[in-house]
Amino acid sequence: MLKLRELDVTNKRVLMRVDFNVPVQAGEITDDTRIRATLPTIQYLIDKGAKLILMSHLGRPKGERKPEYSLLPVAARLSRLLGKPVIFSSDCIGDEPESKASRLKPGDVLLLENLRFHKGETKNDPEFAAGLAKLGEIYVNDAFAVSHRAHASVVGVPKLMKIKAPGFLLEKEIEAFEKVLKNPDHPFHAVMGGAKISDKIEVIHNLLDKVDKLFVGGGMSFTFFRAMGYETGDSIVEEDKVSLAEELLNKYGDKIALPVDIVVADDIEQPTKTEVIDPNAGIPKGVKGVDIGPATRDRWGKELMNAKTIVWNGPVGVFEHKPFDEGSKAIAKVLVKVTEMGGTTVVGGGDTVAFVNQTGIGDKLTHVSTGGGASLEYLAGYELPGIKALSE
Ligand code: AMP
Repeated sequence: MLKLRELDVTNKRVLMRVDFNVPVQAGEITDDTRIRATLPTIQYLIDKGAKLILMSHLGRPKGERKPEYSLLPVAARLSRLLGKPVIFSSDCIGDEPESKASRLKPGDVLLLENLRFHKGETKNDPEFAAGLAKLGEIYVNDAFAVSHRAHASVVGVPKLMKIKAPGFLLEKEIEAFEKVLKNPDHPFHAVMGGAKISDKIEVIHNLLDKVDKLFVGGGMSFTFFRAMGYETGDSIVEEDKVSLAEELLNKYGDKIALPVDIVVADDIEQPTKTEVIDPNAGIPKGVKGVDIGPATRDRWGKELMNAKTIVWNGPVGVFEHKPFDEGSKAIAKVLVKVTEMGGTTVVGGGDTVAFVNQTGIGDKLTHVSTGGGASLEYLAGYELPGIKALSE
């Protein structure tokens, strides 16, 4: 795979897939994190005198031109962030973008309208991909969050273009995941949580083969407790995954750490009663497990402190409702310490990333992934089609 820094981009039309899928309410962008995440690559290309053509999707317009999904507000925000004009094309293929792309001067930026206004994007239609590919001479992908999708702008276009490379954001994602999955420093521990095992079973499988220990918290721990024959009260249990949890415990038992105490509550939103319970003693009916308890925070904290590599995916409690974020906060703190001591810490998955950023520790960790689904597929051991297409 080529590196962006190795390419001669000056005076060249660089067609770059970015993730500008930002939340928009009544024409206003409510969070521009995704735009800012790719600014280093955009600024580099501007400084090098490339003629930059940016393409992205926004929301799910399902192949129809729907004004509420227009990227026009993004052009305005990008222009403000860059402190220079951003040219906008009201369609991503055809005469308008072709003419605007051909008239770009070095350092100019052109943003194309939402790719998903055309059905060809998600279908990876060859004609649609060709319409995009002809706009540029060099292809760059800086959109990790869609790199697990075999869409036209992610897979079809790079296949048609000879010179291609990941942008800096994607390059950082690749480096982080390759490091932890292929060449981790040991002890290598993973923390997994979230609601369900079923969403993450492939990640669990892949990581169990690689890690020294897997700490399982959150909703998914109760399916394991059920497999161990414990009462789980009203906790979330996936009945159809109990036998799978049993298999995993039999095969990898000594690698799987489950909580030694659990915070239970009668209600998540308006709890009138919370207490800490030993899961071994059984969770009574009428209450459910909502977080790992203080003894678990303490014990896991000590073990995780010895790690040289930690991957974290999935909150260990119902973190949206305080104080059931205590467990996840404790994990976050340990990750910061391990990073400070020179360890590698990687956080993936939408909810965990949101939590980490909300706690304000995102920049104190080695890597916080920008892709939810994409990071899960990476951690599950799959080659992402958008990344593969860059080396073909
Ligand atoms: P995921 O998207 O799979 O990472 O799951 C994240 C969700 O898991 C969050 O909304 C959490 O509230 C939820 N979660 C974490 N712990 C529990 C629990 N003990 N019971 C129910 N849901 C949980």
